[in-house]
This record gives sequence, C-alpha cells and structure tokens, in this order.
Amino acid sequence: MENNYKEFGISDEVYAFAEEKLNDLKPRFDEIDRIAEYNQMKVLKAMQDCQVSEACLLGTTGYGYNDLGRDRLEEVYAHIFHTEDALVRPQITCGTHALALALMSNLRPGDELLSPVGKPYDTLEKVIGITPHKGSLAEYGITYRQVDLLPDGSFDYDNIEKALNDKTKLVTIQRSKGYQTRPSFSVSAIGELIAFLKEKKPDVTVMVDNCYGEFTETIEPSDVGADMIVGSLIKNPGGGLAPIGGYIAGKKECIENAAYRLTSPGLGKEVGASLGVLKDFYQGLFLAPTVAASAEKGAIFAAKIYESLGFDVIPSSDEVRHDIIQSVVLKSAERVIAFCQGIQSASPVDSMAMPYPDDMPGYDSKVIMAAGNFISGSSIELSADAPIREPYAVYFQGGLTWPHAKFGILRATEELFRRNLIELP
Ligand SMILES: *Cc1c(COP(=O)(O)O)cnc(C)c1O
Repeated sequence: MENNYKEFGISDEVYAFAEEKLNDLKPRFDEIDRIAEYNQMKVLKAMQDCQVSEACLLGTTGYGYNDLGRDRLEEVYAHIFHTEDALVRPQITCGTHALALALMSNLRPGDELLSPVGKPYDTLEKVIGITPHKGSLAEYGITYRQVDLLPDGSFDYDNIEKALNDKTKLVTIQRSKGYQTRPSFSVSAIGELIAFLKEKKPDVTVMVDNCYGEFTETIEPSDVGADMIVGSLIKNPGGGLAPIGGYIAGKKECIENAAYRLTSPGLGKEVGASLGVLKDFYQGLFLAPTVAASAEKGAIFAAKIYESLGFDVIPSSDEVRHDIIQSVVLKSAERVIAFCQGIQSASPVDSMAMPYPDDMPGYDSKVIMAAGNFISGSSIELSADAPIREPYAVYFQGGLTWPHAKFGILRATEELFRRNLIELP
C-alpha cells in the first residue's frame, strides 16, 4: 500500500503521519457506517414499496405525459422523506433554482419571508432581493426579514418571536453552514425551532434548505415538521450519478404550487419529459447513503489531520456532523493555494490542470476552485474552494469513495509539506 502511494508522490513522512491519525478515527467511521447502513435500507425499502421496475428506468421525450419512471421516482422521494409528495426533475437546474422555485411558488405579493438563522446562502441574496435583482421576490412585493443567530450560534428565540407578524407566510431555515463559519444545525435542533415557530404561528410554512445535509443523519428535516425540504441532485441525493436536477419534497399543496410554477398553471406535474436521466437518478439515489458516508469520512479525516497540525477546523474531528462540508483555516494564501492544487492533482478527470486564484462574479476577493469531476460543478465529488482573504479558510467537500477522499487529503497535505508550509510533528 505504501509503495502504491509512493508512486503517487506521497512521502513516507506524510503517509506515516496520516495513517497514525487515521487509527484514532475507527470509532467515528463506525458511527458513519451505521448511519449509511440505516439510510441504505430506508432507500431500498422505498424503492421496493413503490415497486420500481425496469420500465421506470426508461425515459420520455416531448411533453413527457405518462412518464412512469418520473412519477414513480417522485413517490420514492416522498417515501424516503416521509412527505405527502415530491417534485424531482431534471428541469430544476440546480440547488438555487430549486430553492427559488419553492419560494416563488409558495409566496404571493404582500407576503413576508423570514430567515430566523441569519443570512441565507449567497446565491439566494438575489433571489430574495437582499441584493436588488431583476425577478427577485422583492420585485414582486414580497418582503424579507432576518433574525441573526446569537453569538454562540444558537437561535435568538426572543427576536424570532418579535419578527413573526401577520404577513409572515414562509420561514426558510438553512441546515448546512454552507460557506459561513457558523455551525450546521442538527435535524433535532431544526425540529425545536420549527416547533417554536408553529406554536407562535400555526399557519406558517417552513422550508428547509437541505443542501449537503441529506443522509448524514437517520432523520431529515421533513421528519421534524418541515413543510418543504429542498436540495440539489448534484450534491448528496444524486449519489454522484445524477447529471443535473433538484428536488422539493413536502406537503401536497406546497408541491402543487411548485409544479404549477415550474411548468405552468394547468400543467403542473403532468408534463416534463425525463429524457434519459432516470436510470442515473434512481441509481444515484440508491448509492447516495454510502457516497455521503464516504464524503463525511473524508471530511473527518481532513479535520483530524489539520487540527493535529494546529489549524482551526469546523467542525472538529470528534463533533457529530450534520453535513459534508469541512472548513480548515489555513491562515495564509500560499497554504490555501497549495491545498487546492493538491486536491486538483488527485482528481480522476483534469488531474493535469493547475488551479489558480482568479476573480469570480459575485465575490469581492479572488477565489480558487479545485475540482476534477465527472459531472461539472458537482460538489459531492472531491472538491475544494477558497476565497483568497482572511482568515484564509479552505472549504473541502465530497469524495465518491472513501479511498479517493483519503487520497485527496494525502495529496493536498503532501503539497503543503513539500512547499515547507507545514511542519509534521
Ligand atoms: C449548494 C447550496 C445551495 C445552492 O445550490 P447550487 O446547486 O449551487 O445552486 C444552496 N444552499 C446551500 C446550503 C448549498 O450548500
């Protein structure tokens, strides 16, 4: 094994150090495997109960009327998430689109949207109109209110209660920290917040941005009272195979609203050809629990290595995880660049490409992104990215298999070691 890694340029020092750290992680990995085992059975049960057949794997063209596989897949999602209905479509182009669709279809002019967990994901700022933009909710007369988390990362219940008013129609809760430094929320913490919201305002609709969270716990936000959960198929639930797509699972009425908005009033879920993606949607969903587990193991391994080297990591290697994102505060631009270049060189596709920091629309500093993916932009595959600014944190996520996630971390660490940017103990 060691020789194998040597061929890939991993030094004895880095290999020995990493293997030693890995030894300590066995109990954590066992927990992750137990969750994957539970979720594998949950997915399998849903597929069997819904009688998924070979015919479901075929697709339709044109209008997509009577698309058996598409309709059955939506039933499978509803079974897994314990919701009344689901919308799972290749016509939903990404996570932001799925979230925008859920919001725009379930809010009407004069309604107010509340985020009780601070600033939502960057791309939603233009959707909501926090940053003014064409087509935003604000343009349609939908107002927005936000209650920030308390300094310790907990919910500010007093101010949440004050923010709820007659206009509050929908509450959005983001499960994963995304690219912020707050903690990600456990499903049970989200459940407590939902219970509070529903007690104060029983008719409010609660949506959870479930991106990066699916299958990291044995329950999902829809099991603790969320009316809608929303996510991207090129993250966890696509299992690395879905080439595009998003989902919304929830109350029948919410899904109906979303379907009439996605296609058209009067058409709803009846149209929308699945083309050739269904086999990958089903198979990806089937693999998703173990793929999410691989990504989590990679994240925990990265946390362990970098906390041992004296860097701040969120979450730490022994914290219970609620998503697959790992941040490591590397404290210098050189380290961030070396880490990302190491990740890129570990990729199955475009391993020969060399990422450099550059300007990106929507960012106020240069950004470096490393990903050598089968599916473009898929962040369930091994990837890392970082804005080149204080505190020089890199965000690492994905890994379709644990051995590949492990190798990515070894390669990144080797790059830091060779450039004399870290000292091994
Ligand atoms: C990725 C992500 C989104 C947006 O998804 P895209 O597919 O990149 O548009 C929204 N919210 C969270 C928490 C995410 O992680």
